[in-house]
Amino acid sequence: MKFEDFPISDEIKRAIKDMGFEAPSPIQEKVIPEILQKQDVIGQAQTGTGKTAAFGIPLLEHVTRDKHVQSLILTPTRELAIQVAGELQKLSKYKNAQILPIYGGQSIGHQIKALKRGVQVVVGTPGRVLDHLNRNTLQLRSVHTLILDEADEMLDMGFIEDIEKILQQVNRERQTMLFSATMPPPIRKLSNKYMNRPKQITISKGEVTAPSINQVYYKVLEKNKMESLCRVIDSETIDLGIIFCRTKKGVAELTEALQARGYMADGLHGDLTQAQRDIVMKKFRDSSIEFLIATDVAARGIDVENVSHVINYDIPQDPESYVHRIGRTGRAGREGIAVTLVTPREMKHLRSIEAEIKMNIPSERLPSVEEVVEKQQHVWKGQIIDLIESEEEDTGLYDGLVKELLDQYPPEKIVGSLMKLAFYSHDDLKDDGYDFGDTGAQKGMTRFFINVGRNIELTPKKLSEEVSHLVGIPASAVGRIDIFDNFTFMEVPQEVAPFVYEGLKYSRVNGARINLEPAKPRPKRR
Ligand code: ADP
Ligand code: MG
Repeated sequence: MKFEDFPISDEIKRAIKDMGFEAPSPIQEKVIPEILQKQDVIGQAQTGTGKTAAFGIPLLEHVTRDKHVQSLILTPTRELAIQVAGELQKLSKYKNAQILPIYGGQSIGHQIKALKRGVQVVVGTPGRVLDHLNRNTLQLRSVHTLILDEADEMLDMGFIEDIEKILQQVNRERQTMLFSATMPPPIRKLSNKYMNRPKQITISKGEVTAPSINQVYYKVLEKNKMESLCRVIDSETIDLGIIFCRTKKGVAELTEALQARGYMADGLHGDLTQAQRDIVMKKFRDSSIEFLIATDVAARGIDVENVSHVINYDIPQDPESYVHRIGRTGRAGREGIAVTLVTPREMKHLRSIEAEIKMNIPSERLPSVEEVVEKQQHVWKGQIIDLIESEEEDTGLYDGLVKELLDQYPPEKIVGSLMKLAFYSHDDLKDDGYDFGDTGAQKGMTRFFINVGRNIELTPKKLSEEVSHLVGIPASAVGRIDIFDNFTFMEVPQEVAPFVYEGLKYSRVNGARINLEPAKPRPKRR
């Protein structure tokens, strides 16, 4: 199945192409045709399976130039509202629909102004949407599509009443879609009451068993992904490696970046002709390239025996694909290693993959530049000695320059500088915008304010174990924890703070939904 096969406009097809999506995900394959036919749909699938585009593509297809709110999407959190609006924006690149996220915490005046200018799609949190309805700054008369995204999350966050109030204000002649990872009874009830003979589409989990090969994940920041990948591959002994990216565009960009850094790499994606594909595969088979960069689709059917490493540069969309990908290594009784790079926002997705493959993937600390250099030194030494001892390699060309430098500087200095020029190419890691500011923590730590405390029977042990499980650091690495009746302060090492923040946010501890924010520094006492 291809996106080309859907009866959708060229504008949207072009946008999908630009986003680098190669083939519809299973939920998209099933849901898009139904929504296009104006069916009410309940879509149930795990996170990361592409539900946004599953409703976004047909929704945008139905949006007209009319500057009224035609679609309303309700999401549980501000972050999701922004994320969904962003994805829709990309999908409507050539169609140019006006899409507005509205959420609490942002100035309402700003949102009112934007709404007045005329928007076709509103993505909002229930509380703020209701707020606008009460102020009469948002009209839902022309809404023909309504989407409840992450319905179970909205239920957990106590939004059911707000959602009902909103639903009652939308035209009955509408199409309603509900997306949820789970279907607890209150959500079922909501769908019975407010949806019109919905078609239920469930992407079943199926049995997935991961092969027993060495698996590991590294916590990386989005901005540092490339540098982190280089550190990982430079510190491992790799025969042949397959590096997976989510999109064709990702494959093209990563291939270019790796080649620019001098790696023997080539890319494989669905746009290549069979002949081009064969050339790349031949290079990989006879080891004239070390790395093959591919999308899931392009890697289908690849069967190369001595793949020593599978690297998930982008985390796979679902557990099945995780299992497929890592199964490319460890063939024919050889040792295989599967490495996954995980960004803060992907922490939860990793946990859902682990839950389904019933396996804990251990985390490893990213090697420092010093460690990488140390591991590489014996390789370099070999290369230099080979060159010195080889008969053919004539370095006489440089005699003049060598003499000149030797007259001016000590040989150690010259050789060291040359090595740096030739081998050293690692960058420092950047902080990627996760600046929590001064949180009043001890040096090297970040302090978080958590909205629960003794009221949910939280104990320091429970919390540190939760954090340890979540981000793969020892419980003992969690710093000071102060638990009060209704809130808690916790310090964690700075380098894992973004992962703790994204991973713990809106998660459950002792059955309660919790939230956290960077703490404000305590006022200095005199
Ligand atoms: P969900 O809502 O199911 O949790 P999302 O809609 O947020 O998942 O999608 C997860 C990621 O997958 C996003 O980065 C999205 O752009 C990407 N994605 C969605 N559909 C596809 C596809 N068909 N091919 C490649 N990537 C996709
Ligand atoms: Mg989603």
